[in-house]
Amino acid sequence: MRVCFLGLGIMGGPMAANLVKAGHEVTTWNRTSSKHVEGAKSAATPREAAQGAEIVWMCVADTNAVEQVLFGANGVEQALTQGMIVVDSSTISPMATLNFAQRVRGRGADYVDAPVTGSKIGAEAGQLIFMAGGEEGTLEKLQPLFGVMGKSVFRMGTVSKGQAAKLTMNLQIALIYEGFAEALVLASKLGVDLQALVELIKASMVRSGVVEYKAPFVLQRDFSPNFPLRLMFKDIRLMLDAARETRVKLPGLETVEEIYDLASEEGNGDLDYAATITLLEKWAGVEVKAKSAS
Ligand code: NAP
Repeated sequence: MRVCFLGLGIMGGPMAANLVKAGHEVTTWNRTSSKHVEGAKSAATPREAAQGAEIVWMCVADTNAVEQVLFGANGVEQALTQGMIVVDSSTISPMATLNFAQRVRGRGADYVDAPVTGSKIGAEAGQLIFMAGGEEGTLEKLQPLFGVMGKSVFRMGTVSKGQAAKLTMNLQIALIYEGFAEALVLASKLGVDLQALVELIKASMVRSGVVEYKAPFVLQRDFSPNFPLRLMFKDIRLMLDAARETRVKLPGLETVEEIYDLASEEGNGDLDYAATITLLEKWAGVEVKAKSAS
């Protein structure tokens, strides 16, 4: 298929690379023009990249970025034609998604929101999980591309329901990780062997994918970004906005938001969100690490 891929960050870069590897004709665009994908053509603007494409796939930072890419100067909008499908794998506002879909459909193209879970390793391995919102027939047409970049697609309903589901997924990740981080800090103060604690967690009902993924990084104090703190903070704000709009109270998340706020103020926004533990450590006067980590 002729695919235009917009946004070559931690997620978009390997997603586009997997499309190329599978033999699709890919044209990419990235805001910072130095990023390219081997085997794909590079375009100077989103409009140029989208020209003649069957599918326009986006994976950019936030709601504002999606709006710029679609409707800004030299945006995708100017290249939209009947039958084209625009797919958004960024995590953005469900309300804005409805608006973007309406504007895209006004041009005869269709719109699907398909945010992902699986992080950097999932993107690199083509093992992402998509949660999609859109028309059944449109999702069906995308199956060959979903199959290359991911291992499964969950159909969550009409447009914007993929984004809504994604926010509720990241709400749990943020709270589960916070629980793990608080447990590690307390365990350190109590003198518990942290590697043994992680093994105990994995063997018990406390186990979780979040802990299995993050524990090795945290115990080695590797906070290089898989999922940057600034992006999880963006998601937390989207969750709290959605909660306000729907009159839902999220007291646990409100507390976690304060931690992300402080961690951002300390300049940790570009580190992985796992680095939020460093604030807890500072408050407790302890550093969490495995016995073997130097
Ligand atoms: P990233 O590495 O920070 O990449 C962000 C991408 O968005 C870059 O290509 C960046 O371009 C582009 N961008 C930022 N602002 C822009 C703007 N105003 N206009 C046009 N392009 C803009 O982020 P990522 O980790 O790939 O995440 C991308 C999306 O996937 C986010 O919505 C994130 O929440 C979501 N997500 C991430 C993960 C994860 O584990 N990393 C997992 C699931 C979902 P430049 O190169 O010029 O900066």
